[in-house]
Parts: sequence; structure tokens; C-alpha cells
Amino acid sequence: MTPSRQGSIHLFRLWGISVYLHWSWFFVAYYAISARVPKYGSPVWGVLEYLALFLIVLMHEFGHSLACRRVGGQADQIVLWPLGGVAYVNAPPRPGATLWSIAAGPLVNVALLPVLLGLLYVDHLAGWQESLPDLHVFLWAVSFINGLLLGFNLLPVYPLDGGQILRSLLWYALGKGRSLMVATGIGFAGGLGFVALAVWGRELWMGILSLFLLVNCWRSFQEARALRRLEHLPRRREYACPVCETSPPIGPFWLCQHCGQPCDLFAHGAVCPQCQGHHEAVACPDCGRAKPLLAWDPAIPEG
Ligand SMILES: [Zn+2]
Ligand SMILES: [Zn+2]
Ligand SMILES: [Zn+2]
Repeated sequence: MTPSRQGSIHLFRLWGISVYLHWSWFFVAYYAISARVPKYGSPVWGVLEYLALFLIVLMHEFGHSLACRRVGGQADQIVLWPLGGVAYVNAPPRPGATLWSIAAGPLVNVALLPVLLGLLYVDHLAGWQESLPDLHVFLWAVSFINGLLLGFNLLPVYPLDGGQILRSLLWYALGKGRSLMVATGIGFAGGLGFVALAVWGRELWMGILSLFLLVNCWRSFQEARALRRLEHLPRRREYACPVCETSPPIGPFWLCQHCGQPCDLFAHGAVCPQCQGHHEAVACPDCGRAKPLLAWDPAIPEG
């Protein structure tokens, strides 16, 4: 349940990352801007405030994407939609790389804090409250938005950034599957807390956001269960994935590219026993990367 590129407008491409705007954004933008306009003397500032919100969201998502690339992951797409932004990132399956990809988003908001505080100070010195009241209200609104985004995103409620940071930290101690299980468990409790708050405060927007978080948390919980099952399988210790260093499970966990039958590619030297078809690369069930069988053999150095 995340916005897809379908039904989205391609806005631009920067540093190899394509930015899309989902169609639903326009509907919500109309109402969100209308709600902001009465604060200002000129309605233009209501539009500017809403655009500034999404500029901050976009910078946050670029933080995730660029950091993910930096640690060797893939990230080439950001979709903006009414609930914020989604950076499609695929970090290498290591806790450190994942931690950095996630933390870089909120760090952008942290970096914006002194900039906005500086502007508020200038506003104070120059007396814009009297001379440029719209600019004054705008600066306070944008600073508030940035602080709110930072605080909200850091809540340890999976899949918010704070929840994902907690998961990466737990990964060091508990491993990939268990850390996700614990983080999604806390995420559920937090998500239900959000629902309760939304009902209590009759906040429709908060309700939609909580449901979105809960659905994605449930999905990740299912992923955690699958990871735990995978972790419990017996392993072929003579091989190790060149990317994540995990030994492959023993059993027919690969689908033959040639005949489509399940087979154990490690038992027969990357050859399917049913059709004798050879496989150039063997995918790692733990991290998903495909590498030639030779690269899986620690006795043979990678050339
Ligand atoms: Zn984020
Ligand atoms: Zn792997
Ligand atoms: Zn086959």
C-alpha cells in the first residue's frame, strides 16, 4: 500500500533520481491550501506554505535516496503524495547500511533547523512582523512544519523512520528477522495508539495515516515471519553469499529459469537436475542478490 508510479506525473530527474507526483496530491492540495489561506493577507502565501512543506519532504526523501546509494544500495525513484513522500530505496542487507539510509532522512530536517532558526532571528531583528507580516507568518509556519516532521518521523513506530532506525539497531543484537519482528510489534502498538488518538481527536487525516502505517507494519511483520522461517532452515556451510555472507539453505528453494521446477542449485553445481539447464547466477534467498556459483565458494577468491 504505497503510491506507485502509475497515475503519477514525472516532475524531474536529479542525480539519477526521478521525482513523481501522485494524482491524489492535487485533491488534497486544494483543501490543504484553502485551510492555510486565511492566515495570510495574500492567498499566494497559502500556496507557498504548502509547496514549502513538500519541498522539505522532498529534501528528506533525497536524504534517504542519496545515503542509500552511498552505501551501495539502489535508489532511483521518489513519489510525492498527500501523506508525504516515498523514496524507493533498496539498501544492502546489512544493519549499518540500512541504518544510514534511514537516518539520513531525518538528518536533513536536523540540518534545516539552524537555517530556519537563523531566518527567524533575521525576522525578529528586521521587525518583519510589522513590515512584512505574511513573510513572518510563513517563516514560523515552515519552521513549525520542519520541527513537526522531524519529531513525528523519529517516533519509534515502524515503518516511520524512528521505527526503522530502532530495527537497524536491534539488527546488530537480534539478527535480521527477529529485529524486524520486535520493531513491527512495537509498530503495531504505536499504530493502534495513533488510531485511538485519531478517533479521540476526530482527526480524519491522522486516521488515514494510522491505517496506512498499520497496513505497512502488518506487511513487514509477514516479511519478518518469512525471514524467521528462512533463518531456521539447515544451511550448506561450504558456501556463503558474496554479498551478505549468509550460507544458502539446503533444499529446493530455487526455481529453475529453464523449466520452472523447484530445485537446489547448490546440490548440482548450478545445474537443474530436471532439465540439465545451467544457471549463470544463483540468487541469495537472504538478500536477493544473484551471483555466479563460483563467487559463493569462499575457497575461490573473487576475480
Ligand atoms: Zn523518512
Ligand atoms: Zn546474500
Ligand atoms: Zn530445469
